Amino acid sequence: MIDLVSDTATKPTAGMREAIAQADVGDEQRHEDPTVTLLCERVADMLGAEAALLLPSGIMSNLVSVVVHCRPGDEVVTAANAHVVGSEGAGAAAIGGVQMALIDAPDGRFDAPTLKAHVRANRARAPRPSLIWVENTSNAGGGTCWKLNSLAAISDVAKAHDCRMHLDGARLLNAAIATNTPPADICRFFDSAWIDLSKGLGCPIGSVLAGSRAFIDEAWVWKHRLGGAMRQAGIIAAAGLYALDHHVDRLAEDHANAQRLAQQLRDISGVKVVGDAVETNIVFVDVSGTAHSAAEIASALEAYGMRMGVSGSSKLRAVTHLGVSASDVDAAAQAFRRAVTSPS
Ligand SMILES: *Cc1c(COP(=O)(O)O)cnc(C)c1O
Repeated sequence: MIDLVSDTATKPTAGMREAIAQADVGDEQRHEDPTVTLLCERVADMLGAEAALLLPSGIMSNLVSVVVHCRPGDEVVTAANAHVVGSEGAGAAAIGGVQMALIDAPDGRFDAPTLKAHVRANRARAPRPSLIWVENTSNAGGGTCWKLNSLAAISDVAKAHDCRMHLDGARLLNAAIATNTPPADICRFFDSAWIDLSKGLGCPIGSVLAGSRAFIDEAWVWKHRLGGAMRQAGIIAAAGLYALDHHVDRLAEDHANAQRLAQQLRDISGVKVVGDAVETNIVFVDVSGTAHSAAEIASALEAYGMRMGVSGSSKLRAVTHLGVSASDVDAAAQAFRRAVTSPS
């Protein structure tokens, strides 16, 4: 099976399993797991932050960030298609008590004037804006990368309105590799940022959230409160350290494979690749010009041993990762052509 549904489909490699088996471990809740400590120091350093902490998932990194930065009744300003808005069980509302102000931004990016128009003026009866939320790369936006100058401009707006800045960096390292920018140069505009270990980095579990010492101290309180403090979590951290050594530079291969796939899909009559360019490892495909629905194409693909995600009646999503080779991508494109041209 060639699985292009998500880069969460990665399985730990033999080398990663070996690193997990060898991990030096201790009680993580007591800050006594040396491998977790090492991973957190390494990620803090990489993101240019004072401190970091390991959490079980990216969703928990996002939720912890909301509750540390915001008080109930505050407003978080972000793109309407952000992961935190539609794919995290509304934890920000249910647990953080915050309201979301949504910017219509199909590719996940918004500029400073647009942000300014969505940050409410300070009035007693209005929700208090307190957090500006950026996703880089944007998942639903098609793996798009933010430009540094636009991050600088929106962080000026945030400062002018006394708002903090948060970076959902589930695929931050994809953005860093694609734009040839050190992650710390991207993160310097933010008060908190995290990376996912379980997407393109190929680990089975985990995310690492970074910020100031004070932010991380408070994040630790919420990590406990939400049930995210662990014990011998060095077995998770060892996979993360292995991934940082072996799976970061290779993200460029995933990006090349995504472009290779897009190129071949564009050649199929009635098929459109969404967006101007495939910037990283996510390809959205619009099949409204074919005789088939996205669901029909997805089930035909399954019969050929391929999986892609259905993200609307006429939209599919393909995500490349370390479990997918260039020849897998060629096979997927061929299967896609067969699925589209088969009689409806
Ligand atoms: C996957 C994802 C998350 C959630 O990460 P998990 O580790 O699956 O909890 C958050 N934000 C974005 C943009 C994602 O793609």
